[in-house]
Amino acid sequence: MNKLDENVQVLKGIGSFKAKLLLKLGIRTIGDLVYYFPKRYKDKSIITNIRDLMPDEFYNIKGTIQAKATESRSKKGLLITKYVVSDGTGSLVIIFYNNKYAKALFKPGDTIIFSGKTSLINNYISMECPEYEKISSNNINAFRIVPEYGLTEGLSQKEMRKAVYYALEYIDNTIEEVFPSDFRTKFKIAEINFSLRNIHFPDTQKNLQLALRRLKFQEVFFLQSYIIRLRGISTDQDTGIEFRATEEVKAFVSKLPYKLTGAQQRVLEEVLTDMSKPKVMNRLIQGDVGSGKTVIAFLALLNCVKSGYQGVMMAPTEILAAQHFETIKGYIELGLEDINVALLTGSMKTSQKKEVLENINNGKINIVIGTHALLSDGVEFNNLGLVITDEQHRFGVRQRAVLKSKGVNPDVLVMSATPIPRTLSLVLYGDLDISVIDELPPNRKKVETYFIGSDKRERLYNFVKKHIDEGRQAYIVCPLVEESDKLEINSAKEYCDNIKKSYFKDYNIGLIYGKMKNEDKDKIMESFKNGEIHIIVSTTVIEVGINVPNATIMLIENAERFGLAQLHQLRGRVGRGSHQSYCVLISDSDSQSVRDRLKFMTKTNDGFLIAKKDLETRGSGEILGTKQHGLPEFKLVDLSKDHEIIKTSKEAIVYLYRQNKIKECDYHKLEKYLDDEYAKITEEIALN
Ligand code: ADP
Ligand code: MG
Repeated sequence: MNKLDENVQVLKGIGSFKAKLLLKLGIRTIGDLVYYFPKRYKDKSIITNIRDLMPDEFYNIKGTIQAKATESRSKKGLLITKYVVSDGTGSLVIIFYNNKYAKALFKPGDTIIFSGKTSLINNYISMECPEYEKISSNNINAFRIVPEYGLTEGLSQKEMRKAVYYALEYIDNTIEEVFPSDFRTKFKIAEINFSLRNIHFPDTQKNLQLALRRLKFQEVFFLQSYIIRLRGISTDQDTGIEFRATEEVKAFVSKLPYKLTGAQQRVLEEVLTDMSKPKVMNRLIQGDVGSGKTVIAFLALLNCVKSGYQGVMMAPTEILAAQHFETIKGYIELGLEDINVALLTGSMKTSQKKEVLENINNGKINIVIGTHALLSDGVEFNNLGLVITDEQHRFGVRQRAVLKSKGVNPDVLVMSATPIPRTLSLVLYGDLDISVIDELPPNRKKVETYFIGSDKRERLYNFVKKHIDEGRQAYIVCPLVEESDKLEINSAKEYCDNIKKSYFKDYNIGLIYGKMKNEDKDKIMESFKNGEIHIIVSTTVIEVGINVPNATIMLIENAERFGLAQLHQLRGRVGRGSHQSYCVLISDSDSQSVRDRLKFMTKTNDGFLIAKKDLETRGSGEILGTKQHGLPEFKLVDLSKDHEIIKTSKEAIVYLYRQNKIKECDYHKLEKYLDDEYAKITEEIALN
């Protein structure tokens, strides 16, 4: 058995009692223990001469106890125990309060290391209640950089250190290193046994930094590797198609009713360059809501079709697929009438579907837009060259791989509507090249955002009515749908009933919530699009890129329940037409941090800025969505700070996977390790 998997009770000094305490910290095995990293360190490696002490500073001193302790009582009855300690350069008074055992701690002649803050008491330099450690051959509590751990009641810092120390001793540098040494040299990654020793008991600050770097690297690298396995691995070993219609695409761009933004031009250039190479394109286009990703997708499809291949674009919902279909038909009317576009969704009539499938198969259809229906076996292409997915759901998306398998090494373009900070996209999309559209088309009206308390709701409803009466539409978002939730939250259903009965009885209101059937959802969205419904009350399901330009009001109840990025996505549903739009955040929270967060929303519309702020205020597990996929959480990596290591890990990912180095024999151990761990993770997902 691997030593890491053994129970902590095999260690000296850990019996069933301590084992129980450790379990409270989630520590069961030796492995758990050595991967339980210190929260911080105290540098006790520097010992100061008593002569040099100044008041009110933190010091470590090493001195000999001069005499037995003296005890006295203060006026208020407090027990005071004092020792005098000297080190040949001077002496110092050590004071303990209300500790009847203090007088038996040391005897004259003992040499002790004291660590603590000095103070000036009766003109003497003193140390009150310092930490202390007797000198011995292996000092783990003093004379070094000392780790400090998160603890639980009944377990002391010293006991914890000892447990970790013995665990490391027990392992005795026998942990298998999965990264080959060439690889470690290339990416400047320290060895694993060295790193685990030095993250707990660093010999020097430099070694601590090396250990941290290694362990952070492996956190990111392993997570990226699992995500890639979830999604399906793509490499550029395989020869891809050289698309050669770049000039035709550029000629068409001048016919668009608008000028591409600088960012769009740059990203288009990146896409066309990729496509013209005899390698498979694996690219992510990231852009804020409304930054104009669809036209770039279309231009890539155009390049594909004009080069003689078929292209496909998959969207997460029927409405979005239909929306893309309409948009693309619009572009085709600008002089590209020879291109055939088709829509394929699950709700189409069988006869209709049959015809589309036939024409996809015989190559008459050049571009197919669709939903998951595209993945079914019946969909066979004549010569698929480009696969585009609108990646709305984080991962667990095996679809990309399935769709890809319908062609022979087609190029792949992934579009993400969630503006996420660069570090985060590097983690989530480590296997893709990334293009960012970081500019909005000009003359966009900014959505005006307000933050109000529920006492203003009546005024707000009148404001909504006024806009509906002028012909506009509104969204109202409530966080939960079941009233049984213990928190006092307006459930969407109840909310809907209420406003139907009172404020908005003369208006048409539709309700949308997560558990609803997709067809029902789509039906309501359709009537909203047609203008039959004035207000949609919903949970967060409308987050996904819906485009109803006539909707100008987004009202968010219990706004404190949403993350910033989510609020930004919701706000992105309005401000899509020529009318001024509004987003109103309602919250009665009196937490200052919540209020700051919501105020922040009223000040900026910049999705990337918002995502960055979000990252600083929430944990990475929550943002990455790793928890729900059973993936490991980051213990050391801070997404908002560790840019360098995340970049290094991405380079390593590209090196190993894209160039398929992982298949070489040097990497056999690493690959097997990742396969085994991934199998455990997927097993866990299956069990949940
Ligand atoms: P998203 O990036 O959210 O998918 P879309 O592609 O749907 O955004 O674009 C939003 C709107 O902006 C569309 O109506 C589109 O026609 C328009 N648009 C895209 N690029 C430009 C541009 N360069 N100038 C003006 N309008 C543009
Ligand atoms: Mg879009």
